[in-house]
Amino acid sequence: MREVRAEGGWGVINTGYCSIHPSSDDAPLPYCRLWDDEDIKVHAMMTDAVHRHGSLAGVELWHGGSGTGNKLTRQPLMSASGVSGNTTYPGWINLSHSRPMDKKDIRDFRQWHVDAAIRARSAEFDIVYIYAGMNFGPYQFLLPWLNKRNDEYGGSLENRVRLTREIIEDMKEAVGQDCAIALRFSTDQLLDIPSENMESEAHEIISMLSDIPDLWDVKSSSWVRETVSARFSEQGAQEPINSFVKPLTSKPVVGVGRFTSPDAMVSQIQRGILDFIGAARPSIADPFLPNKINEGREDEIRECIGCNICVSGYHDCVPVRCTQNPTMGEEWRRKWHPERIPAGDPSTRVLIVGAGPAGLECARALGQRGFAVTVAEAREELGGRVTIESKLPGLSTWARVRDYRTNLIQSMNNVDVYLGNQLSAQDVIDFECEHAVIATGARWTREILDSTGHPVDTLQKQTVLTPDDILAGAEVQGPVVIFDFDHYYMGGCLAQLLRERGNEVTIVTPANSVSAWTFMNNEMGNIRARMIELGVNIVLENNVTDFENGSVLLNSIYPGGGSSALECGSLVVVGNRTGNDDLYQELQSAGANSVQNIGDCRAPGAIAHAVYSGHECARTIDLGDNIEQIERERPVLRTES
Ligand code: ADP
Ligand code: SF4
Repeated sequence: MREVRAEGGWGVINTGYCSIHPSSDDAPLPYCRLWDDEDIKVHAMMTDAVHRHGSLAGVELWHGGSGTGNKLTRQPLMSASGVSGNTTYPGWINLSHSRPMDKKDIRDFRQWHVDAAIRARSAEFDIVYIYAGMNFGPYQFLLPWLNKRNDEYGGSLENRVRLTREIIEDMKEAVGQDCAIALRFSTDQLLDIPSENMESEAHEIISMLSDIPDLWDVKSSSWVRETVSARFSEQGAQEPINSFVKPLTSKPVVGVGRFTSPDAMVSQIQRGILDFIGAARPSIADPFLPNKINEGREDEIRECIGCNICVSGYHDCVPVRCTQNPTMGEEWRRKWHPERIPAGDPSTRVLIVGAGPAGLECARALGQRGFAVTVAEAREELGGRVTIESKLPGLSTWARVRDYRTNLIQSMNNVDVYLGNQLSAQDVIDFECEHAVIATGARWTREILDSTGHPVDTLQKQTVLTPDDILAGAEVQGPVVIFDFDHYYMGGCLAQLLRERGNEVTIVTPANSVSAWTFMNNEMGNIRARMIELGVNIVLENNVTDFENGSVLLNSIYPGGGSSALECGSLVVVGNRTGNDDLYQELQSAGANSVQNIGDCRAPGAIAHAVYSGHECARTIDLGDNIEQIERERPVLRTES
């Protein structure tokens, strides 16, 4: 994955956070380690791969202090003075209680950084980081409410900065001749602390350390704020917390901001905000973004849509995945490359029915392979669900899923697109193609399921609306109740849409939060805040069990939680979706040759699933019985020789 980014032209490829010692373990989340010399060879594979393409390799050395879990290593968490951060976990398994670091701990802590830096150099990293941000080890010493020490590491700002300064100096002495030493530093909380000498303690710390690190990597103290989705912010949202840094140091400054437009990047540099553009999401969506800019191919950039599905992969403890880039995370596992794809047979005709994200990605990738592709779409516009859903509040960037693909397809002579063509099974058979791909999407159902998955059938179903109805312009009456057991974006987006049109709106959900799944993509707090701001009523941990005579009946999900009635003119159910697979079934029954269904038609899911499914189909359509080899990691037990 990192090699592909180097190939795509990024100047520096960094690891994610890389623990320096078993006293900082973030299992089961995906993080790297440089705990002992055995770990060097793993990283050396990455640096070799990155160097092959002329990029530099950086390692984000990290000690979490009390901002981690130590769930695997079971070591008590360490912190500046044992003060608890916010947590919902009991005991020291996460952030809560930690042991204060004594003088020996501080000496060890410094030495672990040095040892890890030396290992990093052995692995041939070019840039070695110290992580003084995001509630992690050295950062906890900087914050007066977490650092209550009364020795030379606590109290005055100079004392609180001492540990960070010492680690930078130690690491410079150990590896500074060979590696650049970068400081990753969170600014926003410190910007709020007044200082006697400068505008804030953030200003003062940067002035104190100014040219000691070789590179400043500045960021928010909150991953949720840093990864804010497109629904809640524009690109470049970090500028207010980054822009004050450059005048305080002569060393280069790097920062992120979900930059996808080359103009926005250039503007950051020209206005003196940053020296280097940092990118996680833009490089996930398009590992070849720098090369495309260099080569004047900006219109081919696969622009990040800011949906944060990539973030959910981290919470799920699996390799990163991306809505826009189906190859992300599959570079090694499936040998998928974001720009290259094996050539196919130009005389093989493939008919794709439906031009949503699945059909469009399948057409784009099959077109790139050289097949003779025809796309038939019933509607007068391309994009299927992304065209429709991108009209919801905050989701306009989602149309990029369509635009990236239609833009490329337009220039392919071997891909023909027919709009306004609703195909029947007979139409597909009469087309006489070698392969038919059915990408006809899914629809929301009116069904309400209880917590065991049984349908609640007491509802007068004709009065129940679905998201499809609302998006098609259905009128709502009176107070609207949205019953959401889908738990993703749709419930909250519809609530916002209807509230902004002046309706009284209540969201009812069996979950213990609005849009509960969005904890996984870091949107949950912003969604909840938006609902409060808009005056959307929220009823948690309840099911809707009846709708009659202008009110819905709510039942607590807990025995003994009771029931209640809520005034309701229109009930909108955001729950299940079912595939539009009639066409596929008819073709199956007719014994049609080589027919497969993809995307939401096959299994309703997120847009990321549809794109992935379309891509997978395009890569495998001609494999027949030659099943693709999929790599997986296999632990090997070490035996004593
Ligand atoms: P996915 O997310 O799987 O791509 P979408 O619902 O976004 O699914 O897109 C499915 C597309 O298929 C829609 O644009 C729809 O108009 C189109 N479609 C559905 N049935 C037919 C059909 N019989 N012929 C042509 N197009 C169809
Ligand atoms: Fe961007 Fe979404 Fe891809 Fe993440 S998953 S990189 S937010 S398009």
